[in-house]
Amino acid sequence: MATAAGTAPPERERLTGAPDRAHLLAGLTVRTLDGPGRAALVADLRAVVAADRVLSGRGERLAYGYDATSERWLPDAVAFPLTAEEAAAAVRVAARHGVAVVARGAASGLSGGAVPVAGGVVLAMTRMDRLLGVDTARRTADVEPGLVNRTLSDRIAGTGLAYAPDPASYRVSTLGGNVAENSGGPHCVLYGVTSQHVERLEVVTAEGERLVLPHARDRAEGVPDLTGILVGSEGTLAVITRITVRLVPQAAGQDTLLAAFADPEAACAAVSRVVAAGLLPSTLELLDGTSTAMVERSAHAGYPDGAGAVILMEVEGEASDRAHQAAAAERLLRQAGALEVRVATDAAQRDALWAGRRAHYGAMARVASHLWVQDVTVPRPRLAAMIREVEAIARRHRLPIATVAHAGDGNLHPDIPYDPQDPDQVSRMRAADREILEACVALGGSITGEHGVGIDKLEAMALMYTEAELAAMTAVKRAFDPAERLNPVKAVLSPGAARRAGRTPRRPPPPSDAERAALEALRQARIAAAGRRALPVGGGRRAALAFPGQSVHPFVADPAGEGAIRVDAENLTVEVAAGTAPAALAAALDRAGLMLRTPPDGSTVGGYLARDPFRPHRATGLSARDAVLALTVVTGPTPDLCRFGRATTKNVAGYDMPRLWVGSWGRFGPIVSAVLRLWPRRETALWRRSGALAEVLDGADRLLSAPAAAALREMAVVPDPDGAAQAWVRAELPAAGALAAAGFARVTERDGDPLAELPAALEAAEIRAARGEAAILYAHGLPPRIETERLAEAARMAAGSPVWALPGARVAVCVDAAEPTGAARAWLDGVRAVGGEAWLSSGGEPWRGIAPSPPSAWLRLATALERTLAEGEAAS
Ligand SMILES: Cc1cc2nc3c(=O)[nH]c(=O)nc-3n(C[C@H](O)[C@H](O)[C@H](O)COP(=O)(O)OP(=O)(O)OC[C@H]3O[C@@H](n4cnc5c(N)ncnc54)[C@H](O)[C@@H]3O)c2cc1C
Repeated sequence: MATAAGTAPPERERLTGAPDRAHLLAGLTVRTLDGPGRAALVADLRAVVAADRVLSGRGERLAYGYDATSERWLPDAVAFPLTAEEAAAAVRVAARHGVAVVARGAASGLSGGAVPVAGGVVLAMTRMDRLLGVDTARRTADVEPGLVNRTLSDRIAGTGLAYAPDPASYRVSTLGGNVAENSGGPHCVLYGVTSQHVERLEVVTAEGERLVLPHARDRAEGVPDLTGILVGSEGTLAVITRITVRLVPQAAGQDTLLAAFADPEAACAAVSRVVAAGLLPSTLELLDGTSTAMVERSAHAGYPDGAGAVILMEVEGEASDRAHQAAAAERLLRQAGALEVRVATDAAQRDALWAGRRAHYGAMARVASHLWVQDVTVPRPRLAAMIREVEAIARRHRLPIATVAHAGDGNLHPDIPYDPQDPDQVSRMRAADREILEACVALGGSITGEHGVGIDKLEAMALMYTEAELAAMTAVKRAFDPAERLNPVKAVLSPGAARRAGRTPRRPPPPSDAERAALEALRQARIAAAGRRALPVGGGRRAALAFPGQSVHPFVADPAGEGAIRVDAENLTVEVAAGTAPAALAAALDRAGLMLRTPPDGSTVGGYLARDPFRPHRATGLSARDAVLALTVVTGPTPDLCRFGRATTKNVAGYDMPRLWVGSWGRFGPIVSAVLRLWPRRETALWRRSGALAEVLDGADRLLSAPAAAALREMAVVPDPDGAAQAWVRAELPAAGALAAAGFARVTERDGDPLAELPAALEAAEIRAARGEAAILYAHGLPPRIETERLAEAARMAAGSPVWALPGARVAVCVDAAEPTGAARAWLDGVRAVGGEAWLSSGGEPWRGIAPSPPSAWLRLATALERTLAEGEAAS
């Protein structure tokens, strides 16, 4: 019925035109089916999906063997589930037959992610395309993965809310595909990439089990960010069946500016000026001279003749705020040497300015029949150098490479038109492509900023990562999918596959003294642990947190203590040693006129990142995870130093490993240092509103739904036991009008500043809870109707101890009892009964009662991750 791996019948072979991948497929463990084997697979799929929703004819299967690259491979069957249960059943059928499962959205992928290189079942998710609900109060939408990005925007247009990530493929690409690729787009410079907009995922595991993963940000302490690691995992860890996305208030309006420059250096310097000045454009795009000339020839967008580079920039907000921002931007662009600046304030003018950028791909199509779309990222200050490298490569290989860039993110697409019938041109294109990847890595960048690794960039992973780093990513794959059935040979290159492909992973740089000390600390701790879990502690104020039943040997993770703080003001990043005190970091950033949106608290930066504590007052919904661009950690069997992430805001090369470490309590190994994203410091003010709880909540809620919400920094509603409440808000100045309209009055910090005191108060409560002296009840996602009642109850229950809440989202209640009373348990059950998540921290067991997934489900994955990361590379 089935042939063993390695004796592949023709169907596993590439179809005409696809690149040769034989060297990568050699290690495949999934089976290849012959005719009878395929017939049995199809019959079983039809039994669990539906006869008319399983395709088996060769012609039909051919139609599901491609994406937007030149990869073409034939699946054994194509199934179209309508429900998560059908998807799970199809995965179980594939497992029984020992074949691969490849989830597929709109197949607009540009790295070969959705092509079935190992045959098996293509799970076409496009019919699971319902918008399941929009919660305007909580500003979230529940969607099925097949829903098209644009359709979501259209369907929620009347709510005053918007879904921010906007890949250029938004008219066709699905949200499942966007999440699996962690897609970016022009607006991500202001709003962040897809990962920042995913709240929760429901998935089907490799075993065909349905699982709701803990909330991405507000997880119970010690629960790893399994949602975060799934975003960008390209269908290799689980099949996504439902997504809760975060929505943002719709912008009140946009103005667009176009500026022409003599060369890319001047244009990139202008980008840096705009960012350093604290302006927050919602898009900041760049076209190099080649692209400008090509689009002008084809689209006649009126772009300035002979410009060496063009910048397109958009600002958002109320008309007066926009006018102010546009005027400031125009001044900065001219100071940076712009040859010409145009400002568009109405839709027609804006369309005219965008016409050239939109025409970029069409213009390329006039040059040659095929286009190789490259996607790399460098730290933003290196963008000009990278564009110059691309120009030199274009000259060397006699190719008309045209570059467009999401300049604010340092993410560029050097695009190469070519003729696939011309072998010489194809070989020059491939050589140029490789040199572009090498150049970006040499400049400290990533081989992919938004299009993913897929199969196309699998081998290039060796340019960026060391053997230990590749092994750690492979260990993550093994924890989720030990039989390697989910989209095999994609996204992460195992050290074994690198060897088979003749690729030498990047050599690790020599460790610093602090790094050597951290390595040694873990080695010694493992010896001393004698079979127990060696778990790091930072400042030592909190005990190490083990999973139930684990016996722990705690050790100090940062023997070198406080370390270097390296601020890169131009790149808006800071590299900081894990042992650094948050106050020392804050002082350094203050001196540089910069800030973190989620400033660390506690005794060390490493400890804070490792905990990623629940902080209900962050109005933007951000947590520690959103500040982290890169982490250096110690992990693996040897152990080794591994550096995951780069000093760039976009990087989808392999799994998003920093997400796994943030909030892990060090269980995968200690954090040694971090690269954090900074923002120019902006002036803020403190506002307060008092009154009856229901009215205060209503005012605060209106504020969070207003277009000015992006300018809100922190907010807390503090209810009293007698039914009154106070709401406190810290906001940047553009929010002043909205705050006054919602009944808030400006106060000075002399009147008290509970928001400033809140993190320390929460941490003190957490320490008491961990010691079993108190309990903290946490709730997330309370429906607004219920909220007033539950908060009033919480205030009565807390009897004078603090209760903090952010409307529509998050509540923390500290009760002064080691063992929660019946009232506290009833409160938690009440939250769950109305669909919220609730959990409890007391006596060192913070995850007791996390909803909605039973702890056993995520615990199994989390402990598997602990094991596989500690074991390192598997024998295969
Ligand atoms: C013209 C054009 C412009 C583009 N512009 C951008 C851009 O600006 N920014 C950007 O980031 N990308 C861009 N892309 C690339 C592509 O559109 C994105 O990667 C997109 O997110 C893919 O979505 P899709 O639905 O087409 O997914 P597919 O291509 O079908 O799949 C992509 C990956 O996601 C996995 N996957 C799909 N659905 C699921 C699921 N339910 N569960 C688990 N895994 C799943 C697949 O296995 C595959 O690995 C562009 C592509 C084109 C052709």
